[in-house]
Amino acid sequence: MLSYQHAYHAGNFADVHKHVALYTLLQSLHRKDSAITLVDTHAGRGVYELADKASQKNGEYRNGVVPLWEQRDAIAADSPLGEWIGRLATLQGGATLRRYPGSPWWFADLQRKQDQLSLFELHPAEHQALEADALSAPGKRQQRLHADGLEGLRKMLPVDTPRLCVLIDPSYEVKTEYKEVGKALRHIVRKARHAVVVIWYPLLAARRHERLLDSLRQSGIPKLWNSELRLGQDADEHGMYGSGLVVLNPPWQLDQRLNETFKTVAKRLGGGASHRSGWLTGEAP
Ligand code: SAM
Repeated sequence: MLSYQHAYHAGNFADVHKHVALYTLLQSLHRKDSAITLVDTHAGRGVYELADKASQKNGEYRNGVVPLWEQRDAIAADSPLGEWIGRLATLQGGATLRRYPGSPWWFADLQRKQDQLSLFELHPAEHQALEADALSAPGKRQQRLHADGLEGLRKMLPVDTPRLCVLIDPSYEVKTEYKEVGKALRHIVRKARHAVVVIWYPLLAARRHERLLDSLRQSGIPKLWNSELRLGQDADEHGMYGSGLVVLNPPWQLDQRLNETFKTVAKRLGGGASHRSGWLTGEAP
């Protein structure tokens, strides 16, 4: 049974980590005109209203997007983080932060006419909410599917565009999801060697992510870059002390750009937050 609802967490530090990376990655991919198939395997909703009960319950966004929003005048507007905040501002209709966009919104906002976007969401109510949300769409090919994301992605491979970009962002409600993510990545590499894939994972006390990272190190898959944003001592009460990303085939210099960006994010979050990054596996010989 699916019980996870992202509305309780929207705009927290992990969302900021994931969405700033996604924004910066898509901008890098736009340096070339060739079409991209964009896939969000665990989409959630398009937009979250921060005044809603679910967001207000733990107020996680207050330790994520809020400090960045409040310090936006001190962040260079032409930096990846400044540009990301600029896009976030287009959704607010004023100086007050009212809404936080989920990954479907970020994908759709950055989708070009030649790209196609597939959004998978399995939870019936979340899928309905996603269907109802306004996403940037004029003239764009988009589908919002009520289906299992990893299975759906498998059926799409190989894709008919020259490039493929995938976000895999499960809730990890079920322990086996760590294994399934690794398996899905190996399958993508077999079918689409040049795919760019972002995997998100939580850093929790049980440290299950370490097994996922070990298996990826030993997978023989080249070019896997890893980024972890950690909270300081007063980490959040739900036990998630950090947010992790693995990026397969990051475009040239994305690693450096994101590393600098997340150092700034950590500084702005305060409370001893930190960022570290490095290659899990290097280039193929
Ligand atoms: N990607 C979203 C974002 O960044 O805004 C957040 C996604 S949330 C962490 C995970 C979502 O996956 C939830 O909405 C959940 O209902 C959905 N989900 C769970 N199992 C799924 C599956 N097997 N296939 C597709 N979606 C699933």
